[in-house]
Amino acid sequence: MKRGSRQAAPNTDTTPFALLPVVVIAGRPNVGKSTLFNRLSGRRTAIVSDTPGVTRDRKDAEALLRGRRVRLIDTAGLEEAAPDTLYGRMRASSEYAVSEADLVLFCIDARSGITPADQHFATWLRRQGRPVLLVANKAEGKAGAAAAMESFSLGLGAPCAISAEHGEGLADLMAEIVERLPPPLAPVTREDLGLEDMFEPEEIGEDGEVVLPPRPPGPLRLAIVGRPNAGKSTLLNRLLGEERMITGPEPGLTRDAVSVQLEDRLGPIELVDTAGMRKKARVEEALERMSVSASLEALKMAEIVVLAIDATLGVHDQDLQIARLIEREGRGCVLALNKWDAVEDRIATRKAISDRIEFSLSQMRGIPVVSFSALTGAGVQKLLPAVRAAHEVWNKRIPTGALNRWFESALERHTPPLVEGRRLKLRYMTQAKARPPTFILFGTRAEMLPEDYQRYLVNGLRETFDMPGTPIRLLLRGTK
Ligand code: GDP
Ligand code: GDP
Repeated sequence: MKRGSRQAAPNTDTTPFALLPVVVIAGRPNVGKSTLFNRLSGRRTAIVSDTPGVTRDRKDAEALLRGRRVRLIDTAGLEEAAPDTLYGRMRASSEYAVSEADLVLFCIDARSGITPADQHFATWLRRQGRPVLLVANKAEGKAGAAAAMESFSLGLGAPCAISAEHGEGLADLMAEIVERLPPPLAPVTREDLGLEDMFEPEEIGEDGEVVLPPRPPGPLRLAIVGRPNAGKSTLLNRLLGEERMITGPEPGLTRDAVSVQLEDRLGPIELVDTAGMRKKARVEEALERMSVSASLEALKMAEIVVLAIDATLGVHDQDLQIARLIEREGRGCVLALNKWDAVEDRIATRKAISDRIEFSLSQMRGIPVVSFSALTGAGVQKLLPAVRAAHEVWNKRIPTGALNRWFESALERHTPPLVEGRRLKLRYMTQAKARPPTFILFGTRAEMLPEDYQRYLVNGLRETFDMPGTPIRLLLRGTK
């Protein structure tokens, strides 16, 4: 396929299982729901998911009905766990499935006629506001005619008379089902995605994969920020003393230089805004207020930011404020617990700090934490490796194929929520950029995706693709 050409819609339906239209088989026990389920699903397709950790209920299968793939749910399997009255069981087993249904097949037993339980259930079902198709089962031979007439009284329209066991009336039933389904989701095309509006043609590869620019050459740009007295200058001097300084001013002038270069095993590291750090720290008045804005200037110049904290004081609100700035500006972060030599109970201190950070900075979950003493040098050697690791994560690129395989399983684990009574059709993800990792999520009305579901996706991305501590951006883009 030529780059930039409009992609013709492929003829194969690649809709993920979790996004297939949902057809729920409901009704009182013993009307033949499971029999119908088996008939319709026909074991034509594998029920078992190949996604690790996703075990599909046996009563939840893909079915192919007149060429339409649907997700078929049999509520019969859900009855056991429910409350101990017939109505309670029916309701409880069906409530969740029905709320997610694109179509409910409400089954009655044509041989036994309409029972009070059927009537009760029908009344409840009408209130759920989901499309319903009435199915009169066990209607082999002439048995169904009477019940079929009677069943009009349920107020759910004309029944479809079948015999699940004998396989009668199934072709008509399938046709009726397919007619009532929402239109199929067209395969995602580049036009749907609107990638052309967002990227230059040369930035869009095959399958809508965004071709990310290579990592820029040059040193890793690092800033050390933190409140006054956290030990930033002590740390700077320690780093300059221990690592080979490859460029930089004459000794003695170091501290007024705007940036200095170090080198570690993996190459050059540029420490930015060391001058700003010194200058701001010397200003006596409004010191507390200024440390945040001074940090902002420094971190804007950096790729990775070391947030230095005086561990003897615990985590201050201002530390959190600075951390949020780092997140907002999309920088990678390493938390440095300094003055570790002066900490008495190290285990308790580390736990208290970690708890506070995890609780307050959920946007940067898994942030790397290094503890050391800039004064004595103990543990400082752990800092630059942590910085390098954070830089790798910040630069992470995830291939679109792997991303969407994960995305599909994430959707299966948690069905996207209903918004205004309708399920959002989330379709496709691609990484738009690195530094920090930024993803675009496409789907019908994707922009309405509730925040907790966004958080679920971001946390999943973070865990699956091993991106601790870095800000992760998720952009939502609605498609037609
Ligand atoms: P469920 O409790 O609603 O899932 O019902 P089942 O599928 O377990 O069926 C209950 C009973 O009805 C079983 O003994 C089935 O063999 C029987 N059954 C199911 N479909 C038909 C049918 O079309 N005709 C007749 N005569 N019996 C059926
Ligand atoms: P800055 O304002 O963040 O640049 O902090 P400084 O580097 O000027 O350090 C502030 C004070 O903390 C100084 O008195 C340092 O000697 C002291 N300090 C810095 N690092 C450590 C450390 O690891 N342990 C202890 N005990 N004191 C430290």
